[in-house]
Amino acid sequence: MATINENFLKLQKNYLFADIAQKVAAFKAAHPEAQLIRLGIGDVTRPLAPAVIKALHKAVDEMANGETFRGYGPEQGYEFLRNAIVENDFAPRGIKIEADEIFVNDGAKSDTGNFGDILGRDNTICVTDPIYPVYIDSNVMGERAGDFVEGAWNRVTYCPCTAENDFTPALPDHPTDLIYLCYPNNPTGTTLSREELEKWVAYARANKSIILYDAAYEAYITRPEIPHSIYEIEGAEECAVEFHSYSKTAGFTGLRCGYTVVPKALTVKTASGEQAQLNQLWNRRQCTKFNGTAYIVQRAAEAIYSPEGKKQVRETIDYYMTNARIMREALTEVGLKVYGGVDAPYIWLKTPAGVGSWAFFEQLLTEINVVSTPGVGFGPAGEGYIRLTAFGRREDCEEAMARLKKWLKK
Ligand code: PLP
Repeated sequence: MATINENFLKLQKNYLFADIAQKVAAFKAAHPEAQLIRLGIGDVTRPLAPAVIKALHKAVDEMANGETFRGYGPEQGYEFLRNAIVENDFAPRGIKIEADEIFVNDGAKSDTGNFGDILGRDNTICVTDPIYPVYIDSNVMGERAGDFVEGAWNRVTYCPCTAENDFTPALPDHPTDLIYLCYPNNPTGTTLSREELEKWVAYARANKSIILYDAAYEAYITRPEIPHSIYEIEGAEECAVEFHSYSKTAGFTGLRCGYTVVPKALTVKTASGEQAQLNQLWNRRQCTKFNGTAYIVQRAAEAIYSPEGKKQVRETIDYYMTNARIMREALTEVGLKVYGGVDAPYIWLKTPAGVGSWAFFEQLLTEINVVSTPGVGFGPAGEGYIRLTAFGRREDCEEAMARLKKWLKK
C-alpha cells in the first residue's frame, strides 16, 4: 500500500500568498468597482532590460538553426554564465569563488527549498524571525521542524528581529546545525552589518553549523559598508552556501534563473568520520534531479553582465528604490513607523497600536483598497507589522500613499 510523506500534512493549510489571494479575491467579488493596488506579493512590474531581450532573441534564433541548436546543457549551467558570475559578482569584491562552485538554477526558491536533500534529517534548524516561509516549510517537508505548537515549530530556533533589537538577531544560546540568513532581508527590508555577519560566521565555524545565506536582494544594497555576499567574511567559504536570484536583480521572476554557490572548502563529517564535500554532493543531487536551466534563459542572464545590461538593470533597481523612498517618506509623514526600504525593496511597517497584522491588512484592503502582506505570515515576530513592496508601478505607489494619507488624516 502506498503511503504519503506525512510531513506534508503538518504544513499549515495554505502558503501565505495563497491565503492573501483568497481574501483579495473574495473582496474583489464583493466590491467589483474597487480599484485595487497590489503592494503585497514581491513580484516585479518593470519589463526586462533591452539587453536581455536582445540576448533572448539571438538565442532563440540559434535554436532555430541546426548548426547552433542546443539540446541538453550541463546540469550545473553553461561555462559562459558561470564565468560571468565569477568575474562580475565575486572577483570585483576580492572573493575567490571558482566557476565549478557555481550551480545555475531556475531561481532561488528551488535551491533554498531543495538544498536539504543533501543534509541529514536530524539537523536542527535556526531562522531569523520573521523570514521567507520557504526555509521553514521545506524543513517541515524534510522532517526537521518538529511540530507546530502555539504558532511556532518546536524543533526550530527562532531569532526574533523586531524594532526592539533594531532587527539584529541575537545568536542562539545553544548550538544549531542549519542556519538560514537572508540579507537584505525579506520581509523586513533590513540588513546585517559586517560585524554582525562575522559573529554568525564565527558561531557557525565554532559549532560546525552550515549557514544557508540567501542573497536574493543584494543588488538593492545602497550603503557601501553593507556586505553583498557572506564570502566577504573570512572563513565563510568553510561554513556557508549562498543563494542568488535574477528575479529581483533583473526582473526574471517569469523567466526563471538564479544560482547557488557551494564552495569546495565546505565539508561535513560523515557518520563514518570522513569529510564529505557539499559541492560534490550537490553536484550529484543536481545531476540526478535537475536537467539545467534553458539555454536561452542562461544567455539572457549572461546579458545582465554586459556594460549596457548592467546600466539598464541598475536603472530598473533605481526605479524601485525611488518607489521605496516615496513610500517611506509618505508613511513617515502620517506618523507610521517604517523600517527597511533603504537597502531593500521592502518596507516593513509597524501597525498602529493595538492593531494586529491581519487586522491592519484587512483595514488597508477595505478602507483604501491596498493589498499588503501581514507580517505575522512570515513568523511569530512579524506580528504587529505589515510588508509593502516597492515593486509596483510608480503611479500605483503614489496613489496608494495618497489614499493612505487621506484615510489616516480623516
Ligand atoms: N529568496 C527570497 C528571500 C525571496 O524573497 C524570494 C522570492 O520572493 C526567493 C528567494 C525566490 O526567488 P526566485 O524567484 O529566484 O525563485
